[in-house]
Amino acid sequence: MLPKFLLLPRGGLTELDSRWYTLSVETDSLQDSCGVVGIYSPEPINIPSNLFFPLFALQHRGQESAGISYMKDNRLVTYKDVGMVGTVLSRYLERERYSTVGIGHVRYSTQGGNKLENAQPMAVSCNKGEIALAHNGNISNSRQLKAELFEEGSIFQSTGDSELILHLLSRSRESDFYHALAEVLPRLEGAFSIAMIHNGSLLAIRDPRGFRPLYVGWKGDMVVTASETCALDILKVDEFREVQPGEIVIADENGVRSERISEPKPQSRCVFELIYFARPDSQVFGESVHLTRKRIGAALATNETVSADLVLPVPDSGNSAALGFAEASGLPLELGLTRNHYSGRSFIMPTTAERELMVRMKLHPIREAIRDKRLILIDDSLVRGTTSRILVTMLKEAGAAEIHLRLASPEIIWPCFFGIDIPTREELISNHMDPGEIAGHIGADSVRFLTIEELKSSLDEPNSYCFACFSGNYPIPVESGQPPGVG
Ligand code: SF4
Repeated sequence: MLPKFLLLPRGGLTELDSRWYTLSVETDSLQDSCGVVGIYSPEPINIPSNLFFPLFALQHRGQESAGISYMKDNRLVTYKDVGMVGTVLSRYLERERYSTVGIGHVRYSTQGGNKLENAQPMAVSCNKGEIALAHNGNISNSRQLKAELFEEGSIFQSTGDSELILHLLSRSRESDFYHALAEVLPRLEGAFSIAMIHNGSLLAIRDPRGFRPLYVGWKGDMVVTASETCALDILKVDEFREVQPGEIVIADENGVRSERISEPKPQSRCVFELIYFARPDSQVFGESVHLTRKRIGAALATNETVSADLVLPVPDSGNSAALGFAEASGLPLELGLTRNHYSGRSFIMPTTAERELMVRMKLHPIREAIRDKRLILIDDSLVRGTTSRILVTMLKEAGAAEIHLRLASPEIIWPCFFGIDIPTREELISNHMDPGEIAGHIGADSVRFLTIEELKSSLDEPNSYCFACFSGNYPIPVESGQPPGVG
C-alpha cells in the first residue's frame, strides 16, 4: 500500500508525450496525506527512539520527508529532512537524548514540492513561547488566511498551509498562548489533526468535523497521540481512544486535560482513510480498517453478476476487500500477483517499455495460479487507469481467460480539499469514461465500481463520513481551483 512514484506520459502507455506527471506505480492510486505522533512523559525518556518507531509504523502516510521536535533545556530541538523515516532519523538513535515531550511527522508532498522547508515538524520561538507543530490535513480556507497574513507583512518559508497556524498564533493580540489558540483554531476551516508542543506541554488537536483520524493513548504515565492505532501498538499502548472532533487534549506536568475548540459540528470523516490510506491493522474513526474493507468487498460481491473462477487482490491495498469478496461469494481467493517490496522509490522512465518493466518489477503474476482462469481482480480504487492497463496486459499474457476488474471505491470524480492529493479532474479517468469504456481502454472484460450506497452499507455510521470526491457534495464551502498541497 506504500505509494511509489513513477513519471508517465499523459494519454496512456502507447503514446510518448513531453508532459509528465507523477503516478503511484502499484495501483495508480491516490496519494496519502501525512502522519503525526506526539509523546509526553513526566519522567524524561529517550525521545528520538520513542518517536522513531511509531513514525516508522506511519510511514505509509507519507514518504517524502520525516522529522521530530523535542524540548531540551527549555528550547526546541528539531531534526528533519527529505526522505523516509529510517534514512532521516536512524542517525539520531545512536545515542540517547532525554526529554519529557516530543512530536514527529511523516509527509507526503504535492504542489508544495518535496522541499526541506516544507518538512515538518515546524518549530518556532515566538511571543507565545516555544511552539512546534506536526499537521495532517488541509486548511481549506488557507488562501484567504494567507492573503490576510501577507497583507499584514508575514513572510512564509514554506508553500504548504501548516505554517499559517504558527503565524496566526504569533500574530494574535492575545498574550496568553491558550487564549491565542482559542482565537485561532475557530478561524481554521477544513482538516487538521495536529500534534503540538508548547513549551513543556503536548497538545493533540482535531478539527471539529473530524476529517482526519487522531488517537490518544496511555502507557503508565506516558501519553501518546498518533494518527492511527498501529503507531500506538508499536509502543504497546493498549489503552487509547479517539481525540474527539473539536477536542484538544493537553498533557503536561499538571496531568491530562481536555478542552473544546467549538461546539460539535456534523462529522465529515474521510471515508478514503478506511478504503485505502490507513493500515489494515489500525483502527481509524473507531473502526477496524481491515474489517471495514472486508465488508466493502462483501458488498461488492453481493451485486456481482459475472461468473468467475478466482478472486485475485492487487496487493497490498486490495487484500482485505478481496478476502471479503471471496468469503461472501464463495469463490476461492488466490494470491496470483506477487508484490516486490524491495523495488525502488522514484523513477523517471522515458520509454513505454521501461515504464512497463517498472510495473512488472513491482507486481508480477504467478502464471500457474491464473492460467485459463476467469478472474475477479480487486483493487482499492481507480484514478488514471494507467497501471491497471499494464496489470491487465500482464495477467492476459500470463494466461488469464477473463479479467473482471472490481474497485473497492466509487468512481473518483472531484478533487479533495481536506488533505488528500487527487489529480485534476482532467486526469481522473472516471471524468472521461463510463465503466464499459474504461474496460475497453484497459483491456479488461468488465469493470465495476462500488456504489456510494454499497459503501455506506459497509459503514457503521455512514452519515458521519465525507464522500465529496465521489459526489462533489463538499461538507463545507471550498475555495475555487485546485486545492493547495496536503500536509
Ligand atoms: S473528498 Fe474524498 S479524500 Fe477528501 S476528505 Fe472527502 S472522502 Fe476523503
